[in-house]
Amino acid sequence: MARDQRIPRSSARSTLSVDEYFAGISASDVAVVARSLTLMESSNPEHGLLAEELLTRIMPHIGGAIRVGITGAPGAGKSTFIESLGLQLVGAGHRIAVLAIDPSSDLTGGSILGDKTRMPRLAAEPNAYIRPSPASGTLGGAARRTRESLLVCEAAGFDVVLIETVGVGQSESLVVHTTDCLLALMLPHAGDELQGIKRGLLELVDFVVVNKSDGPLQDACQIAARQFRSALDSQSLRDSDAQAEVFTCSALQNEGVDTVWHAIKNRCETLASTGALAERRRRQNLHWLWEIVEGRAKELLHSHSKVDAIRADVEREVQAGNISAEAAARRILKAVGLM
Ligand code: GDP
Repeated sequence: MARDQRIPRSSARSTLSVDEYFAGISASDVAVVARSLTLMESSNPEHGLLAEELLTRIMPHIGGAIRVGITGAPGAGKSTFIESLGLQLVGAGHRIAVLAIDPSSDLTGGSILGDKTRMPRLAAEPNAYIRPSPASGTLGGAARRTRESLLVCEAAGFDVVLIETVGVGQSESLVVHTTDCLLALMLPHAGDELQGIKRGLLELVDFVVVNKSDGPLQDACQIAARQFRSALDSQSLRDSDAQAEVFTCSALQNEGVDTVWHAIKNRCETLASTGALAERRRRQNLHWLWEIVEGRAKELLHSHSKVDAIRADVEREVQAGNISAEAAARRILKAVGLM
């Protein structure tokens, strides 16, 4: 394939020109989509500029997917559920992308989510695209790149994008800034779930789905669903959004998954018809604007030559207790002209 001459040799092997990326994305060429996402994930500043140009180029073509966040503890059945739902959706003519925000990637440097080996049947479908979580960097950075990947997938014509994450709190708030609705997959032990971090989670979710409602676990699932309903009833409504809905399903036996999908679709259609969806997405764009500004400002600050010049001194003074952290911060910000 022809390469853009302006791209230096070192990166020429890994990147295409913006025109080539754009043409491939517009043609729904999955290999080019994959390469575009690699570009979005790259920490190379040259790639960053190219990614920015590409995002500007695809802007008129984004916004066409239903964006669904799926969270749940490890073992709750996320990959089973996503595979079951995904197969139904491609069967109904949808094109589905599965992306991930992996809160463990900071620690492990690897991704445990959105891994196609966990969804082999869905991965084999030509109209499904599964992408593991960006493997390095901060959780916020991974979430930003996942959002950019979502935009690329939309421009490539995927009309359902599922973003998977693990239920550890922080990652869900990031998913909420990226998706139209959030679904929490729960195990049938609501008592335990409700005692922990799940209270905070319930404020964020639109759908609670108690999974593994099959065999001996069915009764426990019904009980758990009732507990979640009453916990949600005691919560005040968020903004103008509707109350979260609770379902039971068996992802393994593919029972109840279609009901969950219809609820998601209905919710998104209602939000779209009232303008609430557009408003939510506008708010999300503003959130990401400042997220990116703050992230970049932090990077620039830490790599600034004037900070470098005084860093060791200032840190030593603070550690010795000679100056307060406040006064030291002022010195650093003054050095770069921010105060
Ligand atoms: P994840 O870690 O949340 O992605 O969970 P997995 O999808 O890998 O599922 C964890 C385990 O639960 C696997 O052994 C699945 O076969 C099992 N599992 C998932 N969904 C169901 C279900 O609906 N019913 C039952 N009985 N087991 C399930």
